Amino acid sequence: MSVSRRDFLTTAVVGSLSFGLHGQGREEQEPRPAGAQAGGKRPIIVCAGNGYNYLDDAYKFLKNGGDTLEAALRVVKGPEDDPKDDSVGLGGLPNEEGVVELDACCMHGPTRRAGSVGGVRNIKNVSLVAKAVMEHTGHVMLVGEGAERFAVARGFARENLLTEHSRKIWMLWKEYHSTDDWWGPGLADPHFQPPALPPHSELWPERLRKLAEMASGIGIEPEFRQSAIWKVLFPPTGTIHCSALNEKGEISGCTTTSGLAFKLPGRVGDSPIIAAGCYTDQDVGSAGATGSGEENIKVAGAHTIIENMRHGMSPLEAGMDALKRIVRNYNSDMNKLRFVDMTYYVLRKDGAYAGVSLWEGYTPDKPHKIAVHDGNLRAEKTVALLKGSSQEFPPFPPIPEDLKKDSEYLK
Ligand code: ASP
Repeated sequence: MSVSRRDFLTTAVVGSLSFGLHGQGREEQEPRPAGAQAGGKRPIIVCAGNGYNYLDDAYKFLKNGGDTLEAALRVVKGPEDDPKDDSVGLGGLPNEEGVVELDACCMHGPTRRAGSVGGVRNIKNVSLVAKAVMEHTGHVMLVGEGAERFAVARGFARENLLTEHSRKIWMLWKEYHSTDDWWGPGLADPHFQPPALPPHSELWPERLRKLAEMASGIGIEPEFRQSAIWKVLFPPTGTIHCSALNEKGEISGCTTTSGLAFKLPGRVGDSPIIAAGCYTDQDVGSAGATGSGEENIKVAGAHTIIENMRHGMSPLEAGMDALKRIVRNYNSDMNKLRFVDMTYYVLRKDGAYAGVSLWEGYTPDKPHKIAVHDGNLRAEKTVALLKGSSQEFPPFPPIPEDLKKDSEYLK
C-alpha cells in the first residue's frame, strides 16, 4: 500500500514509539529556560544542543585569547566529524538521491567578513570551507561543484560522506516512499490542504509493521530500527549554529548542516544564507538558526534578530519577534505552523543571550535546548513561542485552538 507524506500519524501512535529524534544522550544539567537573564558574562559561547560536548575545549581556547570565529568553528567541527550525528557533515542524512549535500556559513565580527558554501558534496568540514571562501576569495558564497573544487584546491580531502547507517535509513525512506516524495506544492502553497483524517487505527499498525519488516530486510540493526522508522516518517532537520564572544567584546558566528533529510538535490536551506542561518554584527551581536530553513529564509531570521537588538530589543524579545514573523507568514494558521519549527540562538555583544523556539520541542520528551559556556557549561531549555511540540512532515492532526490563547506572545 502506498502512503502519502501528507497522511498523518496520530498522537497515540507517536506516543507508542518510545524513541527520540536525535538520540543525543549527552550529559546535561537539569535544563532551565534560557533567555531570562538581563546582563551577560564574557567570554561566552552559545550553540545548538549538539555542540554541547565540544564547548569545554572551545571555551578554553577562547579564554586563552583565541579568535572568536576559530572558537565557534572548533565547536561545529565536532558534529561535522562525528559520523553518528546524522544532521551535520560526515554521516549526514542524504538528499532524495542518496547524496549528502552540505551547507555552511560563517561571519567574523572583528574584520566584518563573511564566507559561505551551499550544496557541497564529498567534503565534510564545510564550515572550514566557508571560512576559506571568506579568507581566500573575493566572494562571499560558492555553491555545488565549484565550491567542492575550491575546497579540494585549498587542500580539503574528498571523501564519501554517506555512512552505512545513513545509507540504510535513506534506503528505508526510498522504499517506503516509492510513490511519494518532496515534489509538489509545499506548506506555503495557498491551496495547501491539511490532510484528511485517515482511519489510522487500522492503517498505522500495518504501516509500522511493514516499515519494521523493510528495515530488517535492508539490514538495519534491531537497536536502530525504531529511530530509522521515525526519521522516515518525520524527515528530520538538524544543524549546528555557534556564536562566540570574547572578553574584549569581539564576536563571530557560524552555522553548518546537512540540511533537511531527503531534500531535492540542489536544495539549499537557510544555513548558508548570510542573514538567515547566521548573522553577526560586531556592533550588536550574533544570531543563528536551526529548523525549517525555508521559513527562516523568508524572515531573514538572524539578520532580523540583530536589527531588533540594534533598535533596543533584548535577545529574548528580538528572537520572539522573528518567530512571530514566521507565524504571521501563515496568518497564525496552526494547521500549517504545526509542521514548521525554528530555534534561534541569540548572543548580544554584552554577553546577554537567549535561546528561543517556535515550539517547545520535537516531541514532549525532546525539548529544544541551547548549550552555553561562560565558565559554567550547561544546556538550557529554549523559551518557546507556542506551547506543545512540532512535527515535520508528514503533517500531524490539527492542534487545539487554545494553544493560541495560551501563548502570551500571540496576544
Ligand atoms: N535549517 C536547516 C535546513 O533547513 C535544517 C535544520 O536546521 O535542521 O537546511
